[in-house]
Amino acid sequence: MRTLDDLDVKGRRVLVRADLNVPLDGETITDDGRIRASVPTIRSLVERGAKVVVCAHLGRPKGQAKPEFSLRPVARRLGELLDQDVAFASDVVGDAARATVDTLQDGQVALLENLRYEPGEESKDEAERRAFAERLAGLADLYVGDGFGAVHRKHASVYDVPRLLPHAAGGLVEAEVAVLRRLTDDTERPYVVVLGGAKVSDKLGVIANLLTKVDRLLIGGGMAYTFLKAQGHEVGNSLLQEDQIDQVRGFLDEAAKRGVELVLPVDVLAATGFAADAEHDVVEATAIPADREGLDIGPRTRELFAAKLADAKTVFWNGPMGVFEFDAFSGGTRAVAEALIGSDAFTVVGGGDSAAAVRRLGLPEDGFSHISTGGGASLEYLEGKTLPGLAALED
Ligand code: ADP
Ligand code: MG
Repeated sequence: MRTLDDLDVKGRRVLVRADLNVPLDGETITDDGRIRASVPTIRSLVERGAKVVVCAHLGRPKGQAKPEFSLRPVARRLGELLDQDVAFASDVVGDAARATVDTLQDGQVALLENLRYEPGEESKDEAERRAFAERLAGLADLYVGDGFGAVHRKHASVYDVPRLLPHAAGGLVEAEVAVLRRLTDDTERPYVVVLGGAKVSDKLGVIANLLTKVDRLLIGGGMAYTFLKAQGHEVGNSLLQEDQIDQVRGFLDEAAKRGVELVLPVDVLAATGFAADAEHDVVEATAIPADREGLDIGPRTRELFAAKLADAKTVFWNGPMGVFEFDAFSGGTRAVAEALIGSDAFTVVGGGDSAAAVRRLGLPEDGFSHISTGGGASLEYLEGKTLPGLAALED
């Protein structure tokens, strides 16, 4: 994969595909992690005298210009972080975009409006996508792929544009890929993976592939209840995916066959309902009352998981251990995060909600070796899939 150093960018228009898909509350950015992660690559291009044209998506406007999905607030925040003006184009590839790019001087930065305002960006129709890609490519001389959170998408700005322009991977994509390689090839052992989050069905592929690689798999969060049920335990009103029980039983067998230690919760916080102030008690994971739902792992499980992480040399963690958005049920997630922070292992956090949990709980982000900016992308990589955006950069 070519990197930024391989491109001669001075005085040239460089289209940077970034991942600026941040959570917004009205026009207020509630977590600017992804914008901050995109800054080093943009700054490096600025310092080398490029005319930097940034493009990105926000949310799911589904091919239409919808003001609530505008990237305008993001342009403002990016400008603050870069400490220089970021010109904002009020369309993606139209008159405004062309005029904005035309006025850029060397070292200046522009941000185009939300790529997903254009139906061509996400189109499954190759010709439609390609036509949009050509218009986008027409705005620049070179392409830098740095939107790691989108590299698993076969979208125009991710997959087609790098095939039309000389290209390189940005620093963020380079760093993310280097980390993921350490999790898949010649991984230092013991290799322990902690999985949680809401749905087991989101993570079937990754579980299947990781079972061939890891020494230990710790399962918490909402998905743990489908595992407990597959072992024959009742889980009350806890999150359960009935249709995944057979698949999960297969994972339990596979783990046993391969000698992978699969560790499930031994106790849970069982609440009377899904609410921040729901009454709750610690109960055995094998004895969840019928009228209760498990919203977090219990104190013995927190200790157990910490013990199972203690000798690890490599740890990948994806998915909160409980409903961390409610303070009363954030303790399990905090315990796992703290175990990683206290560990000497190479520790990687993947998953948008997991990364958000680290920040929400006020934990130091530099306590981990790496926090991935791309949940879906890192999971698909760990599933062993080919990611379109990386394949296009490698060509
Ligand atoms: P990530 O984005 O890190 O991959 P997911 O999207 O898979 O994580 O899951 C995050 C969500 O899982 C959080 O919103 C959290 O509230 C929810 N969750 C975790 N544990 C439970 C539980 N026991 N019951 C219901 N939801 C849960
Ligand atoms: Mg998520």
